[in-house]
Amino acid sequence: MLKSVHAEITRRAFSQTFSPAALEIVIAANLGQDALSGQLGHDEFHFDNNAFDKSRAYIKEQRALIRPALERGDIDSARRAFGRLTHTAQDFYAHTNYVDLWIACQPNGMIPAPAEIDPLDDDLLYSTTLRSGKLYYPLEALSFVPVLRKLVLPLLPRDSHAWMNLDSAERGPMFEYAFSAAVKRTRYEFDTTVRGFSVELNTNFTGLSRVA
Ligand SMILES: [Zn+2]
Repeated sequence: MLKSVHAEITRRAFSQTFSPAALEIVIAANLGQDALSGQLGHDEFHFDNNAFDKSRAYIKEQRALIRPALERGDIDSARRAFGRLTHTAQDFYAHTNYVDLWIACQPNGMIPAPAEIDPLDDDLLYSTTLRSGKLYYPLEALSFVPVLRKLVLPLLPRDSHAWMNLDSAERGPMFEYAFSAAVKRTRYEFDTTVRGFSVELNTNFTGLSRVA
């Protein structure tokens, strides 16, 4: 997803959850995953190239860093680990065919509104038909340059990232489903992360006192 989209999803998910300062740390770490060093050789950051197991493992690894960091008082490090895992969780909906699979399995060919999407349908999350876009470098790199995209697209296979992504609103009406799913999933990742936290840990993590 575009950095602006990742930022908007994260703000939408957490405006009431983190203090403004804490939220900025989470967002900066999320966006940092799209630095060039995080693009090359890091399929697991972005659910690219069908790296499903590696990407799920990456989310777990980052989550496992959070509690120990909070317990040793390294609060920013905990927030950065959380920011990194939200990036991966959000990219899942933009880089896979999950949205298409979810729409295809609605009863009677109904197409619900984007806000209705269930981001955690187990049958689809682990479906044998789940795919994510492949990166056909070096050609694929040119597709990230807006003026070149139209020229390069016909040269890339249909299972490429360039064809499959829902990275921005430009990609058409399915983008809204990916966006909505990503906001919900981002909240779910928070709930999973803080499950079992004491009030003190939760307050340190979020920068906000939990409202009873
Ligand atoms: Zn990404």
